[in-house]
Amino acid sequence: MTTERPSVLQPEMPPTRWGDPAHETGLPDGVRDLVGLAFPIQDTPARADVAVPAPRLGDAQLAGLRAIVGDDHVVLDDALRRQRTRGKSTPDLLRQRAGDLGDAPDVVVRPAGHDEVVAVLAYAQEQRIAVVPFGGGTAVTGGLVADPAGLGGVLSLDLGRMRGLLALDPVSSTATLEPGLRGPEAEALLAAHGMMLGHFPQSFEYATIGGFAATRSSGQSSAGYGRFDAMVVGLRVATPVGEVRLGSAPANASGPDLRELFLGSEGAFGVITEVTLRVRPLPEVKEYEGWRWASFADGADAMRALAQSDLLPTVIRLSDENETAINLADPESIGGEGNAGCLMIVGHEGTPAAVAAKRAAVTEALTALGGTPQGSGPGEAWAHGRFNAPYLRDSLLDVGVLVETLETATFWSNRENLYARVKAALEESLGEGTMVLCHISHVYPTGCSLYFTVAAPAGDDPLGRWLPAKAAACEAIVAAGAAITHHHAVGTDHKPYLTAEIGEIGVEVLRAVKRAVDPAGILNPGVLIP
Ligand SMILES: Cc1cc2nc3c(=O)[nH]c(=O)nc-3n(C[C@H](O)[C@H](O)[C@H](O)COP(=O)(O)OP(=O)(O)OC[C@H]3O[C@@H](n4cnc5c(N)ncnc54)[C@H](O)[C@@H]3O)c2cc1C
Repeated sequence: MTTERPSVLQPEMPPTRWGDPAHETGLPDGVRDLVGLAFPIQDTPARADVAVPAPRLGDAQLAGLRAIVGDDHVVLDDALRRQRTRGKSTPDLLRQRAGDLGDAPDVVVRPAGHDEVVAVLAYAQEQRIAVVPFGGGTAVTGGLVADPAGLGGVLSLDLGRMRGLLALDPVSSTATLEPGLRGPEAEALLAAHGMMLGHFPQSFEYATIGGFAATRSSGQSSAGYGRFDAMVVGLRVATPVGEVRLGSAPANASGPDLRELFLGSEGAFGVITEVTLRVRPLPEVKEYEGWRWASFADGADAMRALAQSDLLPTVIRLSDENETAINLADPESIGGEGNAGCLMIVGHEGTPAAVAAKRAAVTEALTALGGTPQGSGPGEAWAHGRFNAPYLRDSLLDVGVLVETLETATFWSNRENLYARVKAALEESLGEGTMVLCHISHVYPTGCSLYFTVAAPAGDDPLGRWLPAKAAACEAIVAAGAAITHHHAVGTDHKPYLTAEIGEIGVEVLRAVKRAVDPAGILNPGVLIP
C-alpha cells in the first residue's frame, strides 16, 4: 500500500501548558470552592519574556544537517526550541513558567523518514552532537533532558514529519506505523480500515507511537487491550552504527527477545522509526458503568479476583476514598451525594454478544464480592472527562496549587504496604493542606499499579517543595520493594533509583548495550542509564 497520512493533525501545545488552548475550561466551581477552602489562592502567571540561549552549533555543522534534511527542516527558531524544551511534568511546566530555558536544544531537526534519521545520527556521531528524539513531548520523567557534557550541543530530533501508516496486514491483524503519529492520528488512520489499536493513556491526544514504544506506556484500556509493549510485534530502529530490524514472527525462541531491549529504551539505544503493532476490529459497543465499594481494600480485592479468574473487562479502575470524594473526571460533582466509599469504573467494549456475555459474568462476580452497581452515569462521566485532568492541573497551578502525579507497581500481597508508605511520605514531606489521591487502573493476575495524584499549597517555591516530596515518594517505593515506574519510564528523574531495582549487573548490561549501539554516547546522554 502507499503510505497513508492523517488528514487532521493535532495542534502544537504551548510550552508552559498542556493541550490545545481552545479546549481549556478554567477552574470548575467545585474545585474553586475546594481549593478556596484549603489553600490561599494566588496567581502565578508564566514568564514568556526570557530569551532562549544562543545555539552552540557552528555554521558548518548546520550546513551538514541541512544537506541531509533540507534547509526548511533545520530550525533555529526560538519559539520551536522553546516548545522542544523538556516535557510536561509539573517540574517541567514550573521551569518553563519561571523562564528557565537552560535545557533548550540548540537546533531542531525534522527528518522525513528512516533514511534521513540514519544519516542524521551518523553525522551527529561524527560531529559529537547529542541527539534527543522528540515525539509528542509528553514525557513526565525528564526523558527529554539530555546532558551534553563533553559534546558540542543538543539536537532535538523532531519526528513530527514521520506520521504515516506504512502497511496494514488484515490477515495477520498488524499495522506498521511511523513514530511521529499522535494517538488520535494513528487511530483515525486505522479506523478508516475498520481497525484500532486501543491504546488510550491520559496523554493520548499528544503522545506518539514512537514515544509509547520508547517509554513502554500503558493506557486506560490496558485490562482489555494490554500495555503498549504487548501490542508491539516489530520494530525498526536507527542507531548511530546502523539499522536494527526486529520481529519477523509473532513469537520466537531465537534467543532473548531483542524487541524488549528497544522497548522502553527512551531514545538511549536508537531512534524507533517504524513500529508494527497488533490491531483489532473497532468495537461495535462501548458500555461504561460505576460500582461502589465500602473501602479501597474491598475494591482492590475485587479487581484481584477478576484478574485471577480471567474475567477482566476492557477498562477497570478503582479510586481510593480521597480520589472518589474529589472525582477528577467530574469535578462538578465534588461534595455531591454518592461520593462516599470508593468508585470503580468498569467498561466493556466489543461485539454486542461478547459485551453482553462478559458484562453478565463481571456483574455477577462483582455483586457476589460486595460491590454496589451505580449504573452508567459515573461510567459515562468518566469516559467523557477522561482526558481533561491535565487541563485542570494547569488551572490549579495558575492559582497557586501544586499538583503532580506519580506511579508505581507491585504484587497484590504488597499493595497495602506500598500504598501506605507512599501516601505517608508525600503527606509528611509536603505538610499541612496536602491531599493525596490514588487509583488502580492497570491490573494483572499477580499485581497492579498504584497511581497517585498530589495537591498541596504551592507556596513561594513550588519546585523546591515538590522535588524533596518526589524523592521521599521514590525512596518509599524502593523501601517497599516496588517498581520505580509502571508506565512513566525512567528518564532522568527515576535514574537514581534504577540500580536498586535491577541491580549493578543489570545496569552493566544496559551500559554494554549502549556501548554496542551508541559508542560515542550521543543518544539521549544522561537519560535512563545510571
Ligand atoms: C498529562 C499526562 C498524562 C499521561 N498519562 C499517561 C498514561 O496514562 N499512561 C502512560 O503510559 N503515560 C502517560 N503519560 C506519560 C507520557 O505520555 C508517555 O511517557 C508517552 O508515552 C511519551 O510519548 P511521547 O510521544 O510524548 O514521547 P516524548 O515525550 O517525546 O519522549 C519520551 C521519551 O521517549 C524518547 N522517544 C520519543 N520518541 C522516540 C522514538 N521514536 N525513538 C526513540 N526514542 C523516542 C524521548 O527521547 C524521551 O526520552 C502522561 C503524561 C502526561 C503529561
